[in-house]
Amino acid sequence: MRNVVIVGSGCAGNTAAIYTARANLKPLVIAGHEPGGQLSLTTLVENFPGFPEGINGPDLVENIKQQAQNFGAEYLHGAVLDADLSVRPFRLNVEGEWVETRTLIVASGASARWLGLPSEQKLIGHGVSSCATCDGFFYRDKKIIVIGGGDSAMEEANFLTRFGREVTLVHRRAEFRASKIMLDRARHNPKIKFLTDTVVEEVYDVSKSLVTGVRLRNVKTGEVWDQEVDGFFLAIGHIPNTRVFRGQIETDADGYIISQGGARTNIPGVFHAGDVQDRVYRQAVTAAGAGCMAAIEVERYLEAEGH
Ligand code: NAP
Repeated sequence: MRNVVIVGSGCAGNTAAIYTARANLKPLVIAGHEPGGQLSLTTLVENFPGFPEGINGPDLVENIKQQAQNFGAEYLHGAVLDADLSVRPFRLNVEGEWVETRTLIVASGASARWLGLPSEQKLIGHGVSSCATCDGFFYRDKKIIVIGGGDSAMEEANFLTRFGREVTLVHRRAEFRASKIMLDRARHNPKIKFLTDTVVEEVYDVSKSLVTGVRLRNVKTGEVWDQEVDGFFLAIGHIPNTRVFRGQIETDADGYIISQGGARTNIPGVFHAGDVQDRVYRQAVTAAGAGCMAAIEVERYLEAEGH
């Protein structure tokens, strides 16, 4: 029987592990499908406080994990396959083994949605990015392409014009899901060029481990052409990793956990941390802060329960 199990080993989960380990609660962290979370998919992180020269995303998240392990946090590889949160202690099926715990921190994150092209997947971190805030800075005076037609795509395209020489926004339809104000702002930005009814068929150049261009296709005319680009940014949405908790932890229609204030979910003893609840900020530093909040709430909850 555990005092606390933390689901997810990104910035939020690892920070919750540091705090609960230092509170002597001997946390167990279930690393999940994407150990290290989204930081493990980025390169240089320049906006996490404390690193004046920046730090590589994978190194940052590994350091936080190491810090938690130094205080006694345990890590289990694998993912939660099933959960029963209707009983006390809570029960989690981790790769076939049932784990019991008094409290739970859900820090399973939200995975960026990708197009799924093999070339795109191979070039993640080498010119392909799902985070303009994280990586835009590296594309000063470069050619950038942004994929998507929602508010995120408009916001990212606008943001990226601060760095890039030109930004092409590629959307698969002619109509936009984005709000009018965000769309208008992008339309009035002289550095943004719109390509609608257009999809990406290939990202070049896997053999160079670097983005050099894309093959595009107009879905209406069937025209296919190549375009030179240096940076390829996806803004086609995120998918919160809450599937195993569906029907138990209250989520919104998109699957994001609905916070009941602080780090609380609708189930007493179950707390949230990081992108699994946050569709707005999604930063490493806000996830770390949320991990700290969840850990403090766990401590208080256990104390109130007499443990
Ligand atoms: P979204 O609204 O779900 O838009 C996703 C976009 O990606 C859609 O245009 C969609 O095209 C496109 N897309 C999805 N899968 C695709 C695929 N496989 N290939 C090509 N295109 C694909 O997601 P979001 O823009 O991340 O926004 C999520 C939520 O956050 C929204 O509620 C949004 O308003 C909010 N948000 C607000 C702000 C703000 O107000 N500052 C900023 C960012 C986000 P289709 O339209 O054809 O489906």
